[in-house]
Amino acid sequence: MTAKQLNGRELAQKIQQNLVPQVVEITREIGRPPRLVVVLVGNVAASASYVKSKEAAAKRVGITADIFSIPESTTTAELVATVKAIGREEHGPVDGILVQLPLPDHVDARTVLDAVPPDRDVDGFHAENAGLLSQGRPRFIPCTAAGVQKMILDAGVETRGKHVVIVGRSDIVGKPLALLLASRGPGGDATVSLCHSHTANLKAITRQADILVAAVGIPQLITADMVKPGGVVIDVGINRIQDGDKSRLVGDVDYDTVVEAAAAVSPVPGGVGPLTVAMLLENTVLAAKERNKAPSDG
Ligand code: NAD
Repeated sequence: MTAKQLNGRELAQKIQQNLVPQVVEITREIGRPPRLVVVLVGNVAASASYVKSKEAAAKRVGITADIFSIPESTTTAELVATVKAIGREEHGPVDGILVQLPLPDHVDARTVLDAVPPDRDVDGFHAENAGLLSQGRPRFIPCTAAGVQKMILDAGVETRGKHVVIVGRSDIVGKPLALLLASRGPGGDATVSLCHSHTANLKAITRQADILVAAVGIPQLITADMVKPGGVVIDVGINRIQDGDKSRLVGDVDYDTVVEAAAAVSPVPGGVGPLTVAMLLENTVLAAKERNKAPSDG
């Protein structure tokens, strides 16, 4: 069997095209385009490239995107002050604020993320938004988790009653995705196993997965023998590896072997990555709509 490829790029384009008329409408209502501010700290090449693709995608749908570049030497207190100033709109009106991760080791990322106003937290990493998701009444769903769910829904893969195995329990991917897929409704109602670095006999668990999601950060960790024949495999990982004198991106899934065992696999690049960006734009449009909604009666 050769698996179907789950094309995230095409789906992301569709999602972004659907956003264009919504952006036009809200621009008319509020007299300006929705605006996203991205805070980028230091000179990590991968972060700079992710931020550039977010900026370009925002502009393509009519969202204003501004990057605030902050030197690597910044402190937690300075960064918190910057994020709060952006939140107070000292640098112009703003609907979405995103702090690109990872932050330098000497900065306390949790404290900085807590400074993002929850009503503009388009990454969904603030405790208030994480809490709302855990209670089954999400506001901003973390973009990668939302993208994985969109990919599953778009492929027509049933989640209800299915066993989903997620490898990786980070606050930004694995944990929110587990909550999302276990929540009630379409794209949910799954039985979820959340595996991590202390999971014993990982292969015995991943082989049970109707849907297997890898979000680990270890190149090609998931091999064909770890996959249930006919299962669906979604690769969140983005890892740069050296290939001779060139480097290339690979996921956490050994695509070339898994493609022979699974029914469907997402590639890297061109899988979950573009969907993460599309979901960020959806969250920004949602933030702009919610913040500018006319106050309800009473
Ligand atoms: P993280 O480092 O915060 O978490 C990694 C998780 O993997 C941890 O929960 C850890 O317990 C688990 N783990 C580590 N070794 C393991 C092992 N041998 N077996 C089982 N579990 C193990 O990573 P993250 O931020 O969640 O990112 C994971 C990957 O996804 C990275 O490659 C990252 O670049 C990528 N990523 C991609 C997108 C995207 O848009 N596609 C977005 C975010 C992250």
